[in-house]
Amino acid sequence: MFDLTPEAQFALEATRQAALLVAQIEQELVGAALTKEDRSPVTVADYAAQAVVVAALQRAFPADRMVAEEESGLLRSSQSREALQRVTQYVRRVEPEANENQVCAWIERGNASAAGRFWTLDPLDGTKGFLRGDQYAVALALIENGMVQIGVLGCPKLNLSLESQPAGEGALLIAQRNQGAWVTSLRQPRSFRRLWVSQQADIRQARLLRSFESGHTDAEQIEVFARFLGIQAAPLRLDSQAKYALLAAGKGELLLRLLSPSKPDYREKIWDQAAGSLILEEAGGRISDLGGKRLDFSQGRILTRNRGVLASNGILHEQALDALRAIGAVPHEEP
Ligand code: AMP
Ligand code: MG
Repeated sequence: MFDLTPEAQFALEATRQAALLVAQIEQELVGAALTKEDRSPVTVADYAAQAVVVAALQRAFPADRMVAEEESGLLRSSQSREALQRVTQYVRRVEPEANENQVCAWIERGNASAAGRFWTLDPLDGTKGFLRGDQYAVALALIENGMVQIGVLGCPKLNLSLESQPAGEGALLIAQRNQGAWVTSLRQPRSFRRLWVSQQADIRQARLLRSFESGHTDAEQIEVFARFLGIQAAPLRLDSQAKYALLAAGKGELLLRLLSPSKPDYREKIWDQAAGSLILEEAGGRISDLGGKRLDFSQGRILTRNRGVLASNGILHEQALDALRAIGAVPHEEP
């Protein structure tokens, strides 16, 4: 087994609480949304999850900074009264004393600057999956001087074997640097099981993981990549950093975040990559950008020095990088 530092204990418990709350919101609000376009369950879940994680951080490490995805400006406006009331009702399930002002203050505390030692949170990664009834995750990471030290993922729609399970026990994953990657049950945490990537060395047998949303990647280029390498299986489409959980557990060998043709200048956000990247590395995998550069978490909220992502079981990484170059999927460096 492994030792949990106080930071890791906080991260596990806060992520677990937030992921369970988001799962309740999904159950109670997503089905009840009036139209398919109604994103109000996302709003409630995003803000509520951020508020409970920041509240827990303030108790455990009052001096620590949090860099989270959501800003509270919108929630404070008078048009959002109803939304704020709903968010507060949900936050009270975890923080019984919370009021609306306090909830806004917690969310605001999640907008610190990304420098030195700080936490980064995606309160609801994979919002499209959440609305579709597919995968989503709560992702929390500790970054110190540009290095991810702790990564935690709460995935309510995966089971302990890291398979999709709509109403199962959920998976809670943690990695501490140099301590391995581990999984336990989200709903009933018991013992932890160590995770290892797949040992597949034949790239033709590789299973590809990609975003469900085609707008977040380049689906045509992924096909070209697969054909170039003789990969036979169709890519597995999955929302959120749950993809990193599957890769870390050997359920796939390659994960591609190619640049969408509609957003060729897109840069990844730190909260979309930090937790998943450490969990993968600690399971023996490798992660870089499309050109092979390490992800550089020292540049603030955005990975400005990286373009796209390639993640793998490690063994197949160089071969995949060569293929990306050969098919012209590596963006040119700016001067
Ligand atoms: P996924 O579930 O793999 O589709 O990734 C979800 C994340 O993709 C969201 O949290 C967004 O921050 C991020 N995202 C949004 N637009 C893009 C884009 N054009 N390219 C890549 N990622 C994006
Ligand atoms: Mg996200």
